[in-house]
Amino acid sequence: MNKAESDRLSSYFEQMGYQSAPADEADVIVLNGCVVRQSAEDRIVNKLHSLRSLKKSRPEVTLAVTGCWVDSEPEQLRESFPQVDHFFHPGERPQWVAPVDWEDAPAGKPSPCAFVPIIRGCDNFCSYCIVPYRRGREQSRPLSEIVREVGERIRRGTREVTLLGQNVDSYGHDLPGRPDLADLLGELNLIDGLARIRFLTNHPKDMSPRLVTAISALEKVCHHLSLPVQSGNDDILRMMRRGYAVDDFRRLVTDIRRVVPGIALSTDLIVGFPTETAAQFQGSYDLLAELRFDTVHTAAYSPRPETLAAREFIDNVPVTEKRRRLAEVERLQEKIATEIGADFVGTKVEVLIEGNKGGRWYGRTRTDRLVFFDSEESCQGRLIDVRIEQAGAWSLQGTAEMGRREAIQGGVSA
Ligand code: SF4
Repeated sequence: MNKAESDRLSSYFEQMGYQSAPADEADVIVLNGCVVRQSAEDRIVNKLHSLRSLKKSRPEVTLAVTGCWVDSEPEQLRESFPQVDHFFHPGERPQWVAPVDWEDAPAGKPSPCAFVPIIRGCDNFCSYCIVPYRRGREQSRPLSEIVREVGERIRRGTREVTLLGQNVDSYGHDLPGRPDLADLLGELNLIDGLARIRFLTNHPKDMSPRLVTAISALEKVCHHLSLPVQSGNDDILRMMRRGYAVDDFRRLVTDIRRVVPGIALSTDLIVGFPTETAAQFQGSYDLLAELRFDTVHTAAYSPRPETLAAREFIDNVPVTEKRRRLAEVERLQEKIATEIGADFVGTKVEVLIEGNKGGRWYGRTRTDRLVFFDSEESCQGRLIDVRIEQAGAWSLQGTAEMGRREAIQGGVSA
C-alpha cells in the first residue's frame, strides 16, 4: 500500500514538473513511513535523524513526511522533528507543492506494473495489528473510478495491475449495490490492453467461493494468491483474533487448489506471538511443511502501541528464540521453494519484463516467480516466453523465445 502511495506521489510530482533525483541533490524529499512493524518505524526515525545534517547544510531543501507513521495528531511529531517542513496524511494531496517548469524534462519511463488501491483501512482489528488504528475503517473506491484509473494507466504503458487493500475480500460492502471483488475482476478483465490482474491481500475468513471461481474463469487474473495464515495453532489464532481455525484454513487451501490447479500461494506468518510455546510454533512449522506455499513472509512479533495484544499480553518470547524460529521457517521455506522451482526447469513460462539489472532482463511469471534472461533487444514492458534452464529458491533463469508474444498487442496471453 505504501509503495502504491509512493508511486502516486511520484506521478503527482512529475505532473507538477519535478524529476526524481538522489536525496543529496533533491530540492524536495518526501519520506513515506510505515508503522506496521517496529523495524519500519525505527527506520524512518533513523532516516529523519540522518537528514537533520542535510537540512542544516541546505536549509532550502523541503523535507516532508507522510504514510501511516503520520498519525491523526502530528503536533507531537512536529515538536520531535523540527527539521520536517510538512507532515501530511496518506492519500492527502501535498498542497504545498509549487509547480516548476522544465523545458526538456524527460518523461519518466512508465512501469508496466502498477499498484491500484481499491479499499483503504480495515475493520478486522487483529489483536497485534495497528492498521485499523492508523488507516481507519474500510472504505472502498467506487468500481467505475477504479476501472477509469486502470484504463488511464494502460494508456500510459501499464500491462499489469495489482489491486491493493488490507483486506481485498471486503471490497464493495460499503458501496451502493454492494459489488464484490469478483465483480471488479470481471469488469477489469474486459479492458483492452490489460494483460494481467493480481490482487492482495486476502483474508482467509472472508475469501468467497465466488472469488475462487472468478480466478479460474477470468483469463487475465493471475494464478497467484496471497493468503496470510499467521499461525498454525488454534489458541494463538484465537488470541490473534483472526476469526478462523487451522482446519478452516487447510480446507480453504484445498478448495482453492481444486478449483485453480497449479495456483501459486503465498502466506504470512508471525513467530513468537505472546505465550507461543515451542510446541505451538511447531504447529506453524508443520502446517507450512504440509501446505507447501510458494512464498512465506515471516515476521517476529513486535508489540505495536494501542493494539489489543500490546495492552493485554506480555511479549514473553525472548528475542533469541524468535530469531531461532524465524531461521527455522526460513530454512524450511528455502527447501520447499527450491523444490517448487526445480519443477519449472524445461518448461516455457510467460514473463512480463519489468526492467534490467546488471545487464540481465527480469520479470515475473503469472504465478509471480522472478525470471532472469539475456537479450540484446530492449524487452521493457513486453510479454516474452522464456524457456527455463536453471532454478533456485527465489528465481529462475532461462532463454527468451522471442516472437510469439510480440503479436499479442491486446494483452491476453495463453
Ligand atoms: Fe491488520 Fe490485516 Fe488484521 Fe486488518 S486483517 S487488522 S490489516 S492484520
